[in-house]
Amino acid sequence: MSLSSLCLECGLCCDGTLFRHVGVTPAEREQLVPLGIGVGTKRRHDVMWLPCGKLDGKCCTIYEARPGGCRRFVCHLGKRLEAKELPYDEALGHVREIQARVAELAALIHPPPGEPVLRHARACIDSTTTKVTQEQLDAFARVEALRYGVFMPPPA
Ligand code: SF4
Ligand code: SF4
Repeated sequence: MSLSSLCLECGLCCDGTLFRHVGVTPAEREQLVPLGIGVGTKRRHDVMWLPCGKLDGKCCTIYEARPGGCRRFVCHLGKRLEAKELPYDEALGHVREIQARVAELAALIHPPPGEPVLRHARACIDSTTTKVTQEQLDAFARVEALRYGVFMPPPA
C-alpha cells in the first residue's frame, strides 16, 4: 500500500490539524480565489487557509490542480513509509490513533462546526475567560504528542 492510500485515510495536513495554512505563489493565489478557497497573507507571504474548502472527507477534490505546496508536502510519517522504515499497517495505526485522540478531545471541548479541534482547544487554553479542565489539557497533550512525535519533522 502506498502513501496516497494512507493520505486518503488521513487528511490531517489539509483539515487544519497539522497546519493553519499552506504557502502559495501569487499566481496560485489568483487561481484559488475563483475556486472559493480562502487565501490571505502571513508574514507578507501568500497563503491559503486551512481547513481547505476543497477537502471532501479525506480527499482533495482539486487534486490535479492543487498548489505546489500541497504537491510537495509529505509528513514525517509519510516519509518513513516511503522509505520503508515502517509497514503500511503501522503507519495507518498512527493515523487511526491520532484520529481517535482528536475525537476524544473534540468530545471534551466541543468545537464550533467547521473549527479544527486543535485550534479550538488552543484558543480555549490561551483564553483568559475560558476555564479549561485538567482532563481537557491531558487530551490536548495526547494529540500534540502524536502530532509532533509522529507527523511533524523532528527538530533539526
Ligand atoms: S498528514 Fe501525512 S499521511 Fe496524512 S494526508 Fe498529509 S501527507 Fe498524507
Ligand atoms: S488543495 Fe487539496 S491537497 Fe491542498 S490543502 Fe486543499 S484538499 Fe489538501
